[in-house]
Amino acid sequence: MPSRAALAIFLCALVLGASAPRAQVSQSDRIAISYVAPVDGEHEPLYHMLMEQQALERVRDLLVKIRWPRTLRLELAGCQGESNAWYEDAVVTVCYEYLNDMWRTAHSSRRPKHLTPQEAFMGPAVDTFLHEAGHAAFDLLKVPVLGREEDAADQFAAYIVLHFPSEKKKALILGSAYSYASELRVYSARDLSKPRLGFGRHITYADEHGTPAQRLYNLLCIAYGSDKNLFADVVSDGYLPGERAEMCEDEYRQIDFAYRSLIEPHVDK
Ligand SMILES: [Zn+2]
Repeated sequence: MPSRAALAIFLCALVLGASAPRAQVSQSDRIAISYVAPVDGEHEPLYHMLMEQQALERVRDLLVKIRWPRTLRLELAGCQGESNAWYEDAVVTVCYEYLNDMWRTAHSSRRPKHLTPQEAFMGPAVDTFLHEAGHAAFDLLKVPVLGREEDAADQFAAYIVLHFPSEKKKALILGSAYSYASELRVYSARDLSKPRLGFGRHITYADEHGTPAQRLYNLLCIAYGSDKNLFADVVSDGYLPGERAEMCEDEYRQIDFAYRSLIEPHVDK
């Protein structure tokens, strides 16, 4: 038998008709996941490994407390050779091609000794999903963004990772940093000060993303600003210049304020 409250809501809905508030998506329907079978045989091992390790289920667990107004789909798929990831219309797509590139970088002989291949892979992989989830949050939760959305999506991803336990978050942040560094062919802090000749054309800067070097420094700065002790070696080893490091606590505080004001009201306690 329906309770009085349920009956009242039903009657109210009848009276108000279309103007009645829509029921929220139940928690179990907030996020859908799909491992699309790859067309390219080269992606088969990755596909099976990600399913065995329940990669999408883990990302879903990170995001399920957000009260998405409609179901958000997380999808792993082959992208006909395109190494990329994107968000569009409540779907996050990460290409096997993109993850394959990360896998290769993670197993490079130039990987620093303090990172395991698993950490070097997980860092950028988790960051990619959370970055795209950031775009989803801005879109579906109608969160206003001042500044570049790509920077804000990077900040959203880093902020969530920085709430993991210490050891885990350090490995993930350094894994992502290594991924940017290897894109820049930077393998030591000294490489960061070397001039880069033939860096490219002005048109490169038209891209909506920051350059890999800017994204690397931004990531290290947010991490250092969130916990100066845990990430002290990022500065002492020369990866984050002192002048920037001075600003990082304030930069992190600004992101923390934005997240608490704009995202947290949509998160289950
Ligand atoms: Zn993006």
